Amino acid sequence: MDPKKQEKTTVETTASQNAEPAGMCPMVVSRERWGAAAPRSRDRLTDAAKRAVIHHTALWPCTGPQQCFVQLQHIQKLHMVHRGWDDIGYNFLVGEDGSVFEGRGWGIVGAHTKGNNHDSIGIAFIGDFNNQVPTSAALSAARQLLQCGVALGHLHPTYALLGHRDLADTECPGKLLYTQLQFLNHFTD
Ligand SMILES: [Zn+2]
Repeated sequence: MDPKKQEKTTVETTASQNAEPAGMCPMVVSRERWGAAAPRSRDRLTDAAKRAVIHHTALWPCTGPQQCFVQLQHIQKLHMVHRGWDDIGYNFLVGEDGSVFEGRGWGIVGAHTKGNNHDSIGIAFIGDFNNQVPTSAALSAARQLLQCGVALGHLHPTYALLGHRDLADTECPGKLLYTQLQFLNHFTD
């Protein structure tokens, strides 16, 4: 069976069964837990984010805490040392097993979509989704995180969900992940 087709069926099934109230927030692995370095500085978003932008890290996938923690520390270092940003660029990151990791967190201006960071939050799927199909666990975690953002008032109730490629000349978040975004609520291409 075509894995892409299989994934699509899984996602649609999950969506139709998705009856949890908006207040259900996923468990988020804290920065302390994954060993994040302190940010150089943080700017607060002035309002609830109007857009949620989905990214991929374009590196390796990770499964299990230890593998993911190493990956997260590596990404933070890339962003802070090599790109000179104040912190890891994304607000949140999602692992293949559906684990959600705190990046900059809610209400903080990210560094993920140049020119668009002041009214958006950035969520990155860990892996390279030009070659890899996102798991239904990861997609479901992202969906729950978005609902949680609205419930907590950090995301505007009518927020637009976009892929990075909708706002910049980039392949991000990879074609196999981008294809799946259309099955999520609020998707706007
Ligand atoms: Zn991106």
